[in-house]
Amino acid sequence: MKIAYWNDEIETMPRAGLESIQLIRLQKLVTRVYALVKPYRQKMDAAGVRPEDIRSLADLQRLPFMVKNDLRDNYPFGLFAVSLDEIIRLHASSGTTGKATVVGYTEKDIVTWSNIVARALVCAGAHKGDLIHNAYGYGLFTGGLGAHYGIERLGATAIPVSGGNSKRQISIMKDFGATILLSTPSYALNLAEAMDSLGVDPKSLSLRVGIFGAEPWSENMREEVERKLNLKATDIYGLSEVMGPGVAMECLLSDKGMHIMEDHFLPEIIDPDTGEPLPPGETGELVFTTLTKEALPIIRYRTRDISRLIYEPCSCGRTLVRMEKVSGRTDDMLIIRGVNVFPSQVEHVLMSVDEVEPHYQIVVDRVGNLDTMQLHVEVGEQFFSDKIKQLQGIRQHIQKEIKDYLGITCKVKLVEPKSIQRSEGKAQRVIDNRKL
Ligand SMILES: [Zn+2]
Repeated sequence: MKIAYWNDEIETMPRAGLESIQLIRLQKLVTRVYALVKPYRQKMDAAGVRPEDIRSLADLQRLPFMVKNDLRDNYPFGLFAVSLDEIIRLHASSGTTGKATVVGYTEKDIVTWSNIVARALVCAGAHKGDLIHNAYGYGLFTGGLGAHYGIERLGATAIPVSGGNSKRQISIMKDFGATILLSTPSYALNLAEAMDSLGVDPKSLSLRVGIFGAEPWSENMREEVERKLNLKATDIYGLSEVMGPGVAMECLLSDKGMHIMEDHFLPEIIDPDTGEPLPPGETGELVFTTLTKEALPIIRYRTRDISRLIYEPCSCGRTLVRMEKVSGRTDDMLIIRGVNVFPSQVEHVLMSVDEVEPHYQIVVDRVGNLDTMQLHVEVGEQFFSDKIKQLQGIRQHIQKEIKDYLGITCKVKLVEPKSIQRSEGKAQRVIDNRKL
C-alpha cells in the first residue's frame, strides 16, 4: 500500500529537525505572549520566568500552566494576542458548567487549521474525490466548521449535514454515496441502530472510513462500530481551546495511537496531582502548547485528558509522536468508595458482554455515608424477551466482570432496548446524584 502524506517533509522529518523547529516556534510564542497577553505575563512574572529563560524544549516546564478557568476568567476576549479587527472567526464551548469559553482565529489561523485538518484526513486515507459526510455539529462548536474547512482544503467533497435527524442523514448518505463519515463515536452507533430499524444494510452504502472524535471511546467500541457500519473506524483528537479537531489523528497503520501535529502543538504528559512532567511513555494528563496560533496562543494547557505518548516509530513512516487513545478525563473520573472509576473502563467491560448493547448510564448516589454505583444497561433485542432467570444470569455476569476489572461492587439494572436516551453529540454517561 502506497502511503500518502499531506506534507511529507514535516510528517516524516527526523526528530532532531522537528525539535529544532519546535524550539524556535516556542521561543517566538513565549516572547509574543509575554508582550501581548497581560494575564499570562502576570503569571510568568509571578513564577519568576522571562521569555529569554526558554533556551531548550526542557525549559517549557518552567512556564506556568493554563487551565479552562483562565479562559473563563478572561471571558470573552481577554487572552487574545491580537486586536478584534484581526479576528475573522469566533467559536465557543457550550458552557454547561459555568461560563462559556471563547476562542478566536485570525485569517492565518484558519488557513493553518484547514491545512492541519486536511493533513489529518489524508492520514485516515482520505483523498480528492472522497465524499465526506460531516455529522459534527455546525455552529459555535469547533467540530463542524473545523472539519469542513479541512475537507475543502483537501479538495474532497464536503457534505455539511451537521448533527441530528438520523433518518435524513442515512438517506443522504445513501443517495450521495458518502465514502467517509465524520461524527462522534456514540452518534455513529446511533446511526447504525437507525439503519437497522430502517432496514438499510450498511454494506449497501459506500462508506469506507469513519473518523470519530470529541469524546473518549474504547477499543471494544471501535470493533462494534466497525462491524455495525462496515467501515474502518479511526480516531481523531482535538479541543477548541487548543485549536479544534485535528490536533492528533490516527493513521491507517497505527494500532496504538494518533499522530500529534507536533509542528503546531507541543505535547507533554504530567502527573495530574503534582503537575510534574512524567518520563516518556508514562500515562498521565495531556498538556498542549500551541506553536503557531496567532489569535489565541495557548501555553501549557491542561486538557484533563488521560493519555500517554508513544515515541516508537510508526509503520506509516510518520515521525510525529503518537498519543494513546484517551482513556478518560481527570474530571470525569469518579471516585467511588475510594476507587477511581472511568466511564471508559465500564464501557470496556460492557463491550465484552454479548447480551448487552453499548448503551449505558452510570448512576452514582450516596446512601447514608456510602457511595453506590448503579449501571443501567440496555439488553439486546433478541435477549430481552428471555426468561427472568436468564436475565438474572446476565446481570450477575456483568456484576462479576465489573468487580474483577474495577474492584468495585455495583448494582446492574437491565433496561429495555432503546430506552436510554440517544445523544446527537456527546453521550451523557454519568449521572452523579451525590451532594458533596
Ligand atoms: Zn502512523
